[in-house]
Amino acid sequence: MSVVKELYQLQEVELEIESDEQALAQIASQLGASQAVVRTRTELELKQQQLEELGRQQHSAEWEIEDLVNKLATAEEKLYSGRIKDPKELTNLQHEVDGLRVRRNQLEGKALEIMDQVELSTASVAALSNELKTLEAEWHSQQQRLSANMEQLKTTLSDLKHKRQLLSANIDPQAIELYQELKKQRGRAVAKVEQGICRGCRILLPTTELQRARGDSLVQCSSCGRILFLT
Ligand SMILES: [Zn+2]
Repeated sequence: MSVVKELYQLQEVELEIESDEQALAQIASQLGASQAVVRTRTELELKQQQLEELGRQQHSAEWEIEDLVNKLATAEEKLYSGRIKDPKELTNLQHEVDGLRVRRNQLEGKALEIMDQVELSTASVAALSNELKTLEAEWHSQQQRLSANMEQLKTTLSDLKHKRQLLSANIDPQAIELYQELKKQRGRAVAKVEQGICRGCRILLPTTELQRARGDSLVQCSSCGRILFLT
């Protein structure tokens, strides 16, 4: 095999290593906690706290109503019993009963409002809880998939690096040195030649240069300096 072809193969392997390493870094950045899961969990906790608070308000309203209903029953019983004869006392009692009824109606209205809020809040907690379950399941399977991909990439990379080592060891050290230098300067050291054009810089190569490159010798593009590889 010509040294140019060996260098070209080395370049192909190194490009593959580069792209696999990028893919690996991409995966590494996706591994770990999911922002969507964390956000939804926080939101759910907040909604659950709101629901608990509403539950407490509902209970205390119910207790208060029960207390009022008892007081009202006692007052009404007294009012309609016929035991009270004094008109002033009767008027006062009537006022007390009226006041208790107004307060009871107000509280019952408030209790209904709270009940509506509890209903809405319960539905919202259930919806968020379902959303969280879905997000967690998606996240879990995504993490598993990423981990599997990562393992596969690591194996591929280790194989490729071994291949690079074997290739490099076989190539003339001076050619490797030139290759490394060009790689540093140009990104890619070896350029394919297609239809007389250097694919590195897209310049039509002089016939003499093409003829020299056709031989076994290492020829650099007169325009971009890359090592020319004729397929
Ligand atoms: Zn060129």
